[in-house]
This record gives sequence, C-alpha cells and structure tokens, in this order.
Amino acid sequence: MRKTTFFTTLAALVLTATQAFSWTTWGTKDGDKKMYLSVDTGYSSCQYNAMKRGAQSWNAVGCSGFTFRQDNPVKIDRPVPSKDGRSHITYSSAGGALAVTYLMNNSSSRECDMIIDNGVNFNCGPDASRWNEYDLEGVVCHEEGHMLGLGHSSVQAATMYYAIGAGDDSKRSLHQDDIDGVCYLY
Ligand SMILES: [Zn+2]
Repeated sequence: MRKTTFFTTLAALVLTATQAFSWTTWGTKDGDKKMYLSVDTGYSSCQYNAMKRGAQSWNAVGCSGFTFRQDNPVKIDRPVPSKDGRSHITYSSAGGALAVTYLMNNSSSRECDMIIDNGVNFNCGPDASRWNEYDLEGVVCHEEGHMLGLGHSSVQAATMYYAIGAGDDSKRSLHQDDIDGVCYLY
C-alpha cells in the first residue's frame, strides 16, 4: 500500500517537472551575481566579440540580476584550467567536444574556466555560419550558461541543450527555458 502511494507521487512529480521547465542547475549560484571574464591575448577581435555577445545575451535578461563583466586586464594569458581566483576562456584541446567548462570553485563566488577547441572550424560571426562551420557565439553562450550555474536542458531549441549542429546559429538567442533557468537562479 505504501509502495503504491510512493510510486504514484513520484510519477506525478516527474510529470510536473517535465511540463513546467527543463533547465537544470550546476553547482552553487554566484553569491554576488557578477562574474569577471578574461580571454587569451591571442584572441582576434572577431573571437573576442563573439565571447562578448554571448555574455551580453545573458546580461540582457530582464528578470535576472546576474551580469558578466570584463576582467581587468581582459586580455591576458592564463593556464586553463587552473584555480587562480579568475574565470578565463582559452583555445586549446577540449578533448573531442566543441568546448568544455570547468567549475574551479563552487563557493559563493564561482570561478570557472572554459576551453574552446582549437581544432574546430568556428565562425565567429556575427554573419551566418556556413554549413561546415560551428557558431562560436552560440557555443560560448552555452558555456557561459554553465559558468553562471546552469546545467543542460532537455529542450532541443534551448541554448543549454547539450548539442549544436554545424551551421546552426539559433543558440545565439536564448530560449524561454534558458531565461527561466537564469531567472530562477538570480
Ligand atoms: Zn554543456
């Protein structure tokens, strides 16, 4: 009798969660709602601007108080991943992924480092990606979502979906599911 009640309750919870939202969280949210980002000195202005546009998409969400900001200096070379009190983005091997983000410090002030794979054919935009290019802005925007504390979403159209296809520029724009997630956190 008790078992039956338990499974009924569990099924109801799962159904509610699926209908209401699909975003997930990753670690602790950032206590002061600010994260300062730097990039390697070798970044081109096109690459740097793609990183910046991704951050600005998150900053522009009206119901969220979280902001990405430029570290000072914003272009500096740091080993990644390394726990050094700074959140940094670099080009290196992402181990078969397009990019990877490391959570270096999960305290009230989050520290994350991001590696964008240097073997991938990226379009840094803002023009549309060709069929054989991956959209750097969309990929970075996804990884920046991890940096601020979101996990993956099961909504395929969301920026926080785990995968992106070549030539797909849609992840540059946040989906309502991404917005719901960041506004829940901040
Ligand atoms: Zn991801």
